[in-house]
Amino acid sequence: MTELPHTPLHSTLPQSRHLTTAVPGPRSKQLHAERLAHVSDGFGIVLPVFVDRADGAIIQDVDGNRFIDFASGIAVTSVGAANRKVRERVAAQLERFTHTCFMVTEYESFTQVSKWLNEHTPGDFDKRTALFSTGAEAVENAVKIARSATGRPNILVFDEAYHGRSLLTMAMTAKENPYRLNFGPLPGEVVRAASANPLRPSASTTGDAMTAALASVEETLAQHGADTFAAMVIEPIQGEGGFIVPVPGFLAGLREIATRHGIVLVLDEIQTGMGRTGALYASEHEGIAGDITLSAKALADGLPLSAVTGRTELLNAVHVGGLGGTYAGNPLACEAALAVFEELEDGELLANARTVETVARELLEPLVEETAIVAQFRGRGAMLALEFADATTLDPRPDLARAISSACHAQGVLTLTCGTHGNVIRLLPPLVISEDLLRDGLGVLHDAILEANAALRAPVLVADTP
Ligand SMILES: *Cc1c(COP(=O)(O)O)cnc(C)c1O
Repeated sequence: MTELPHTPLHSTLPQSRHLTTAVPGPRSKQLHAERLAHVSDGFGIVLPVFVDRADGAIIQDVDGNRFIDFASGIAVTSVGAANRKVRERVAAQLERFTHTCFMVTEYESFTQVSKWLNEHTPGDFDKRTALFSTGAEAVENAVKIARSATGRPNILVFDEAYHGRSLLTMAMTAKENPYRLNFGPLPGEVVRAASANPLRPSASTTGDAMTAALASVEETLAQHGADTFAAMVIEPIQGEGGFIVPVPGFLAGLREIATRHGIVLVLDEIQTGMGRTGALYASEHEGIAGDITLSAKALADGLPLSAVTGRTELLNAVHVGGLGGTYAGNPLACEAALAVFEELEDGELLANARTVETVARELLEPLVEETAIVAQFRGRGAMLALEFADATTLDPRPDLARAISSACHAQGVLTLTCGTHGNVIRLLPPLVISEDLLRDGLGVLHDAILEANAALRAPVLVADTP
């Protein structure tokens, strides 16, 4: 591979794919064996290579292999894993202090991050922000705030939802294995409604998908009493559940239902936020605003930071001392977030996200027609996915998603899978990826899909030949 002349945002690594060993290489294998001797088996692994350096859209492992990064550490390192502005701000903060606990003594960056989020999250109303460390913590605190403000117990969540791995958020998450299996009993007061998956409408759906899905939500609310619900929590594009973009109008319908019943609408934008979908927040595509919007993942480019931003009357309904956490809004993470905001300010990275969609759509969407295994190409901006299923029955094919993803890994392209059935390959490149690198990575994926499709058809053709 020739090196690209353009390395985005002063990248510290050559932005090109390059393999020096089989994947994983000998050094990674050695380190992985050592890991197994010390680390809980409870952690899974997508690609067992050990990282030496990462930046831009490249991950370099300890064997010298350079991978194209279509994962961004699960939608986190959107501005690059060694972004210059992030490094400079964090380094300067590191010289001053690492921690005070915001509940003990204050520092200005906590306020500045809150101010920016109040100004930039959707919703033309007065807002306040509370900062935490992880996405799950943001979700749990949104529930605490909504319960405190409404005096109601119940939380409405949806099929295919993912909200985290803590005890409450795993109860809010839909998928059993691996997230909930053997970890019960689960906390109560979590009620699940049908979602509005365009490819796989729920069995009861007849007629117009949007109307049916909303009627089903109303029915679920009625069964428990709509006035027992503090909040409904939903991802504008469901991430872990399969990058499902709901049928058009569904989210606006939920907005209306929430308002009518006095239920707090919490938009979990932990994966979709910070420019990932080509807008700062994905709810902008739907023309709606949550009463509360959650940010995390890409918020601080890999330093642990999450945020609950919403109506002042909600965020201030909690008694003094009711919110907090030792590391909540850590000063290093706040500085990283301020650097991320600087990178997002001129809109160029949002435009990049939209370019990612244009290029990927042009290359991958034809595979829905051209193959018997790609059921759908979907998503927005730099949050895109391919669902693998049998062309006629639509039976999920997780085996194909796995095999194709592995083929990409072997050729130096880091892809992730997701979905309730594990039959979806998702693409989450950093927003700083160059078009050349994007095309190189997508080309590898494209060819791996064609190969899997050909392998599938070959025995059939033989059998059909007299
Ligand atoms: C990742 C994620 C979470 C949980 O975030 P953690 O930082 O892993 O706790 C919650 N909601 C959504 C939509 C996510 O993608």
